[in-house]
Amino acid sequence: MDYDVVIVGASISGLLTAHYLLKKDLKVLLIDLKSSKRLGESVSGNIIHDETVVFIKEAFGIRIPKIVIEHDISTVHIRQFEGKDIEINSKNYVVNKNYLLAYLLGKALNHENFEFLERHIVMGLVEEDKQFTAIRVQNMNSGAKLVIKAKVFVDASGPTAVLRKSIPENRFVNNEIEDFDRAVVYEEVLQLEKEFNSTVIAFDPSKIKGGHLWIIPKKDNLVSFGVGIPGMPTDIKKIFNDYKRRIPEFANSELKSSSTGIVPHRRPLNSFIFKNVVIIGGAGCQVNPLITCYMDYGIRGAFYAAKNIAISVKKEIINTETLWDYNSEYMKDIGGESAIFESIRDFFTSLSSEEFNFILEKKIVPPSLIEKLEKGIRKRDIFFNSAGLLLKPGLIHKFVRLVNYSNSMKKLYNEYPDYGGFLQWKNKLQNQIIKVRQSFLV
Ligand SMILES: Cc1cc2nc3c(=O)[nH]c(=O)nc-3n(C[C@H](O)[C@H](O)[C@H](O)COP(=O)(O)OP(=O)(O)OC[C@H]3O[C@@H](n4cnc5c(N)ncnc54)[C@H](O)[C@@H]3O)c2cc1C
Repeated sequence: MDYDVVIVGASISGLLTAHYLLKKDLKVLLIDLKSSKRLGESVSGNIIHDETVVFIKEAFGIRIPKIVIEHDISTVHIRQFEGKDIEINSKNYVVNKNYLLAYLLGKALNHENFEFLERHIVMGLVEEDKQFTAIRVQNMNSGAKLVIKAKVFVDASGPTAVLRKSIPENRFVNNEIEDFDRAVVYEEVLQLEKEFNSTVIAFDPSKIKGGHLWIIPKKDNLVSFGVGIPGMPTDIKKIFNDYKRRIPEFANSELKSSSTGIVPHRRPLNSFIFKNVVIIGGAGCQVNPLITCYMDYGIRGAFYAAKNIAISVKKEIINTETLWDYNSEYMKDIGGESAIFESIRDFFTSLSSEEFNFILEKKIVPPSLIEKLEKGIRKRDIFFNSAGLLLKPGLIHKFVRLVNYSNSMKKLYNEYPDYGGFLQWKNKLQNQIIKVRQSFLV
């Protein structure tokens, strides 16, 4: 066997997984199609939560160096585009992802059990006698083809999900993501004349259903301005420019760079494991479905995955069942929260601009609503929060559906089953989702 573990994708989830496994003395190969200098170059606001920085220290023993942090964010504005605005206190950092990944890679390269293949594209899995024994890889400089063997294969390839997509149809991992559960994102980094110091997440429910816009200040008067829209809109740049034109501070801005991508925009996959293939980060839809951020969730996924891979490799029994605790631990920690964000996404999609403005004005949407939904909410809590809501029966119905949906999703994820109960759980979840989608579409 060439390696204990091969990881495809040298971004935040893949690199942290490698670090954990190296600490457990496993032999690890990390592969990326990018060169080491270009790791981290992708569309992303690069905001990371303070709690996640603490988590990285505790779970992986890695202290994020100050040099990778561009600046702190203590408040985030949630707003209707050109409408009401509320401020949320939340401690976050904007990181320079190139520096962060270079730091993590440099640290891993000091380890004798670690190898990194840059500019190599992974094409898929090799299956022999119903077991995954290797992956097919191509050197992007020479064109040479390789077959690399390992005990475990980790898909950390982000939305590309190259290994996930090469798993044959099975009962555990679903390969295809519906259009509505993917978002097309377009981002520009703009040089402004003056500092723009508010971090803004904006929604415009009647125009971009289920989508959002963000403005994230970076250093030296640069800002990241972007839009994410579910489905497959063909005119995203036009939509983006319509919004950009309406922001006075961007009038004389200079375009520094732009990028586009398709990202998952939903609750996590139902299972991240099939035999000896383990899926983490964006490849596993470990994302916040409301705002397409997923560094925080992918980092937790990396930890639960690496922990259980290390245990299985040491025991020398590696299969869906022995790795199953990765699924359970992730779902009980994050699954319910993600599903609640998905329910809020569907709820927002069903709102008119007037209704959205109203709930911001009455402060019944973030942070109070999200906190309440996470803790478990009673319907009457909503009415205590806002007397004005009683005058809006249509909106009350939507809120009631949201509360029912999020409570039942939270319960389902708290009851995430062991290996034997998975199919029954999956059917329950599927029925629940069909009901909810239909109810919000009414
Ligand atoms: C518009 C936008 C804004 C975002 N803003 C934020 C934010 O503010 N905060 C936040 O936490 N997150 C944000 N995210 C998400 C963030 O980008 C991800 O959390 C982060 O990149 C970690 O993802 P990952 O490790 O799963 O993989 P990715 O970062 O997607 O990286 C996957 C890696 O796999 C490599 N790869 C892909 N296919 C292959 C292949 N076939 N062979 C070899 N290598 C391959 C790629 O080159 C890449 O390096 C945003 C995402 C988008 C799209």
